[in-house]
Amino acid sequence: MAERMKSALPVEETNETASECWSCGDMRAAHFCSACGRVQPPRPADYFSFFGLPRKLNLDTARLEREFYELSRRLHPDLAARADRREQEWSLQQSSLLNDAYRTLKEPVKRTRYLLQLEGLHLEEQSKTATEKARAAGEVKKQVVPPDLLEEVFELNMQLEELRMQRKTGEDDPALVEEIARQRLELEKKHESLLAELKGYWEQWDKLVDSGSEEDRRKVLDKMVDVLNRRNYVRNLVRDVAEALES
Ligand SMILES: [Zn+2]
Repeated sequence: MAERMKSALPVEETNETASECWSCGDMRAAHFCSACGRVQPPRPADYFSFFGLPRKLNLDTARLEREFYELSRRLHPDLAARADRREQEWSLQQSSLLNDAYRTLKEPVKRTRYLLQLEGLHLEEQSKTATEKARAAGEVKKQVVPPDLLEEVFELNMQLEELRMQRKTGEDDPALVEEIARQRLELEKKHESLLAELKGYWEQWDKLVDSGSEEDRRKVLDKMVDVLNRRNYVRNLVRDVAEALES
C-alpha cells in the first residue's frame, strides 16, 4: 500500500526513493536491485532523473559515461535472457531508455534542447516552411535573421547571388570566391562562439535551479532559446555558403 502511494508522487520524488525489489524485496538502486541484480520495471522518469541527476546543464560527462557503461552492463537484455519474462521486457525497456538518455545528455546542445523542452519551451523553427506558414497566417515571424547578423547576411546573400550568376556564364571571379570563403570561416567562428555564449547561460541556470525565482529561471531559459535559434541560423547559413562554393 505504501508503495502504491509513493508511485503516485511526481517523478523527481519517486526517483529519490528506492522501492522494494519485486524479486527479493531488497532494493537499493532505481533500475536494478543491488542485492539480487534483477532488473526492475521502468518508472516514468525524464533523462536527468533516470541518471539520478538534477536538471543542471554543467555535467561531468566522464562520470556520465562511466554510469552509462555500468548501467548498460546491469540492464543488458542478454543477462536477463534466462530470467523471468517480465524482467526480460523491463530490461529491454530500461536499456532503450538508458541509450536515449545517454545520447541526449552527453551532447551539450542536445542536453540544452532537452532541458528547454522539459521546461515547456519550444525552439522556434527556422525552416523556410515555418516562415512561409507564419506569413500565410499573417503572424509576425520574430527574428528570422538575428539582428546582429542582418548586415552581414544581406551582403553575403548578394555575393552568393553574384557567384551563382558568374557560374552560369562559366566565369568565376577568384577574388569573390576567396571573399565568400573568408566569410564562411567567420561564420564558423561565430557558430563556435555561440556555444560559448550558451555555456555562460548554463552557469546562470545551474545557480537558479535550486534557489532562483520562477521569473529569473524563465529569463535564462528564454536567453538559451535565443542563442540556440541564432546558432541554428548560422549553421544553416554555413551550409548554404558551403553548397554555393562547392557547386
Ligand atoms: Zn532483489
